[in-house]
Amino acid sequence: MKRLLLISLIFIAACGSGSGTSSSSGFAGAALTFQTEKGLSDEWYSWLISRQSYYLEAYNRGRGDRTVRVEISYDSDIAWDSEEEHFAALKTLAELQFPGWSFTFSASDSDADVRAVLGYTGVSSYANLSTDTIYLIYEGIFAHELGHILGLYHHYCGNDVSTPCSESPPDEGKCIMGRSAASWGPTEQFLLNLTGESDEDAILSQMGYIYTNSYP
Ligand SMILES: [Zn+2]
Repeated sequence: MKRLLLISLIFIAACGSGSGTSSSSGFAGAALTFQTEKGLSDEWYSWLISRQSYYLEAYNRGRGDRTVRVEISYDSDIAWDSEEEHFAALKTLAELQFPGWSFTFSASDSDADVRAVLGYTGVSSYANLSTDTIYLIYEGIFAHELGHILGLYHHYCGNDVSTPCSESPPDEGKCIMGRSAASWGPTEQFLLNLTGESDEDAILSQMGYIYTNSYP
């Protein structure tokens, strides 16, 4: 029951949109290698290749330095005694969800890649791609909204997360971009160049720790 509540908190209304970039060298070959390694279907490969231009930004970002500097601000009070502990908890969560990537969280960072507004009081969490800012009602949605900034898209159509549609990768199973898990499916594991799969239970446990401290 507690776990269900946690998952529902994680996936409360999230959205965003974006665009791809140029340079596709290596994408198809790398996707084929990944498909073979993971035993994914030919349908998965065809689905991904048909969206190659759409996903190039995320693919290229995953072949970059895989570091993300996050500058934190607040839209409402969040009850942590220590901001240092809060940022450390966010870093632990992010690095559990993005294995192989490295994160820094701070209150002031002129070189930040992303700004995150915590305790957001608006109607839903979202990503503003033109300012690289994510607005989070609950911090557990961080990975999903950052995903939009990195060039990822929903695996569902409209607001219907339960019915497979053209944006659902074949054979994928659960994924953060499907709002059906706290870890990534194989499409994002490939695009973001993640080093292995995440431990879903460890992620949910860390989210629980953050919620317990942030939202009494
Ligand atoms: Zn979204």
